Amino acid sequence: MLTTSVPTACWACNAALIESPLLCPACGRVQPCSKADYFQVFGLQRKLVIDIVALEREFHRLSRKLHPDRFARASAEEQQWSLASTALLNDAYRTLRDPIQRTEYLLRLEGLKIGEEHAGKGKSADRQPPADLLEEVFELNMQLEEMRMNQKMGENDLALQADLTTARGKFESLLAEVDSDLAVQGAEWDAGDTAIREKAANTMAALLDRRRYLRNLVRDVNEVLGA
Ligand SMILES: [Zn+2]
Repeated sequence: MLTTSVPTACWACNAALIESPLLCPACGRVQPCSKADYFQVFGLQRKLVIDIVALEREFHRLSRKLHPDRFARASAEEQQWSLASTALLNDAYRTLRDPIQRTEYLLRLEGLKIGEEHAGKGKSADRQPPADLLEEVFELNMQLEEMRMNQKMGENDLALQADLTTARGKFESLLAEVDSDLAVQGAEWDAGDTAIREKAANTMAALLDRRRYLRNLVRDVNEVLGA
């Protein structure tokens, strides 16, 4: 097992760090804590269903307490820790408040490979479509190609444009389905034992692949339709 060097007691007053390991609840001193994962930063268990309102409240509370201005007269070391803790807190908040990023992050902590390197770059054509969507993707790519040709020729095919808009609507609704499946699996993971968790984690990794693929399709259609 990985040993984390997340402190459990304050370096200054030795009080237990029962909430966030970034800050002592007793004396308010900032802690040397760069190794905490994003869940630990907020004193949370590694779970996927999060109280977002509480997360936001805790983020603002910690932001204020860790703000570098408060440590202007502290030692150089503490000033450094407050800068590092503030950066870590911001990253943690940005990631955990978004359900998709939160899921990807948790799965990566759990040792799963998440195909993030494909996201954003490259066209969907260099990736394998989900098996159940082969025909629709083939059809869509033909339509996209035709639309691009038309645009080059300065032509405007309204029927084709309508077909693409319909296709986009379909892929968007499939995306919404993926999101609700992810929420169901996330709840399974939170409540499950080791075996259930492993199964849910693998299902979520596959759902995230599907989601990334669908999102790229929608992006391709948007590009062509100029949305
Ligand atoms: Zn303390």
